[in-house]
Amino acid sequence: MARISDKLAAGRTLSFEFFPPKTSKAQLTLDRTVAELAPLGPDFVSITYGAGGSDRHRTGDVVKWIRRETDVEPMAHLTCVGHTRTDVAGLLVEYRRVGVENILALGGDAPIDGSAPAGDYQYALDLLDDVAATGCFSVGVAAHPEVHPRSVSREADRRHLAEKLQLADFAITQFFFDPEHYVRLVDELAALGIDKPIVPGIMPVTNVGQVTRMAEMSGTDVPSWLVDRLTAAHDAADAKQIGIELASELCLDLIDAGAPGLHLYTLNRSEIAKEIRVNLGSVLV
Ligand code: FAD
Repeated sequence: MARISDKLAAGRTLSFEFFPPKTSKAQLTLDRTVAELAPLGPDFVSITYGAGGSDRHRTGDVVKWIRRETDVEPMAHLTCVGHTRTDVAGLLVEYRRVGVENILALGGDAPIDGSAPAGDYQYALDLLDDVAATGCFSVGVAAHPEVHPRSVSREADRRHLAEKLQLADFAITQFFFDPEHYVRLVDELAALGIDKPIVPGIMPVTNVGQVTRMAEMSGTDVPSWLVDRLTAAHDAADAKQIGIELASELCLDLIDAGAPGLHLYTLNRSEIAKEIRVNLGSVLV
């Protein structure tokens, strides 16, 4: 079973996100991480796409390497920014040729220096249309529980997401720390007639500075209780254990709330993901 839509239909999934390494040392870290996480039997792993379509070949290289060298199912992220329809058609042909069956169709963000060339796509829905039209991929989209920073209103955010989910097979969410954000998102989509699987994205955090920077970009609220717990850590090792504990608690709450899967943002490291998996025990089976 290779398609994520089929895996989600079969039961709760566990998946990991990686980013394409930029140096040979970082490549070795990713090699080791994939080797260490593969025995956990993830249903799929996803590979991000550089901001503004930068380093686009690296995503393809990692996706193809995972497809070729491991038993793990890869999903390629693909973004609108800077892409022509011809670029996308070429990438999809190549993915199909090597047996990749899952794509996450995203808006993407323009690089801060404005260096992205003009492309043919404005919104993820436009890209999704082209990917879905091939009939060759299970396609996912991004969801933003706390509303995307560029959305003019919560209502507009949910309406545009519902439009994407009429066509897509599933969504994966931006990270968040309060399970209520996820529950509310699912309820709001249900009110719009959408019952496709919404897989929560979990970011284990071990460092207040790092999470604050990432949260600013994504519009995620960093609750004071999380900052308090992390800043009370005695040292980096203690902060790591606290981060694992908090992420595990969030995963368990989300499973209780009926989440169809869990998608862990690994930052290309295996240790934290492995410990979270242990903490989840049999609830994932
Ligand atoms: P869209 O669905 O296009 O939405 C963007 C904004 O436009 C939203 O505010 C939406 O409400 C609005 N909108 C949509 N349609 C319309 C319309 N018809 N009219 C008016 N407004 C509209 N970024 C990367 O660069 N690379 C990655 O690999 C990557 N991976 C990600 C993975 C996940 C799981 C998530 C949640 C995000 C990821 N991102 C990635 C970030 C994402 O690309 C950005 O958040 C981006 O700004 C929005 O992407 P989107 O797919 O939600 O875009």
